[in-house]
Amino acid sequence: MFGLKNGCVLQVGDAFHDLEDYQGSMARWCPGCGDNGILAAIQRLCRDEQLPPEKTVFVSGIGCAARFPHYMRTYGFHGLHGRALPVAEGIRIRRPDLHVFVNMGDGDCCSIGAAHWVHAIRRNVDMVVMLHDNNVYGLTKKQASPTSPEGLRTNTTPYGAPLRPLDPLQTTLGITNVSFVAQVVEWLPELLYAAIEAGLRHRGLAFIRILQRCPHFMAERFESLMSNPDNFVLLEHENGLPLSDALKKVIRNRQEHDPSDIRRAREVAAWEDRIPLGLLLRDESVPCYDTIQRPKKIFDADDRAALLEGAFDRFGIFPAA
Ligand code: SF4
Repeated sequence: MFGLKNGCVLQVGDAFHDLEDYQGSMARWCPGCGDNGILAAIQRLCRDEQLPPEKTVFVSGIGCAARFPHYMRTYGFHGLHGRALPVAEGIRIRRPDLHVFVNMGDGDCCSIGAAHWVHAIRRNVDMVVMLHDNNVYGLTKKQASPTSPEGLRTNTTPYGAPLRPLDPLQTTLGITNVSFVAQVVEWLPELLYAAIEAGLRHRGLAFIRILQRCPHFMAERFESLMSNPDNFVLLEHENGLPLSDALKKVIRNRQEHDPSDIRRAREVAAWEDRIPLGLLLRDESVPCYDTIQRPKKIFDADDRAALLEGAFDRFGIFPAA
């Protein structure tokens, strides 16, 4: 607020954040990598929602997708392989004023981080979790991941991946307390944006599986998926994701699905011949561990110093006087 000479008062509102305020260092993913589109969607959403950069955190583990926090001009934590979720849960429990996002690849989430994935879904801590699923370990130069298609030849499976892939949707929908599950592809930016936006508005853990192109190591897999939109079915419902007419022209297969029906969501996730896109589940009645476990008091610097002093007094070994 500024006082002007003629007695008028000029009210200056909170700073408006434009796109550049969310753009970190230059992304170093391969040209055509689907992670670029996911980054663009999130930066746009942060700008549209005017999320304060100093109140926004991106957490990741290890992998190509895990470079995400470097490319956002917000707070970030690029941590250990498979450990993004417990870090993010801790941040959110202690700092409920922050917007917390998690970016994980399929190796990070579904292999080394699988135990954390199960318990994070059960705890239902309020945050947006994005699984960038490109069906391969890209950073380590093409090794089979848990979601690699059966028969895929990689450096670790030279005769072809011997097992059927793990299905992240069916797994997540089978975990107690699951509250939000969506599936999108990054090459349909409208649907991608809508899913992340819905996840941000959801009270609880929003799990979004994003099928993500890896043109460097999985070009054929994604070219064949993209070349035939009939591979996909749009889930539509008044409580689902918004679907524009333009999107409905691209993906002509549509099916009514009520996202409050978890039994039906599990059936949809189990389809073998079609890939569902949209919102499978949203249930805001599920309890959130962060609200149950939130400390009654958020400690400030003086409180923490006093606690430390108390601990030193209690456990310190002092020479006899
Ligand atoms: Fe993207 Fe694949 Fe390159 Fe990794 S290896 S940056 S996932 S295209």
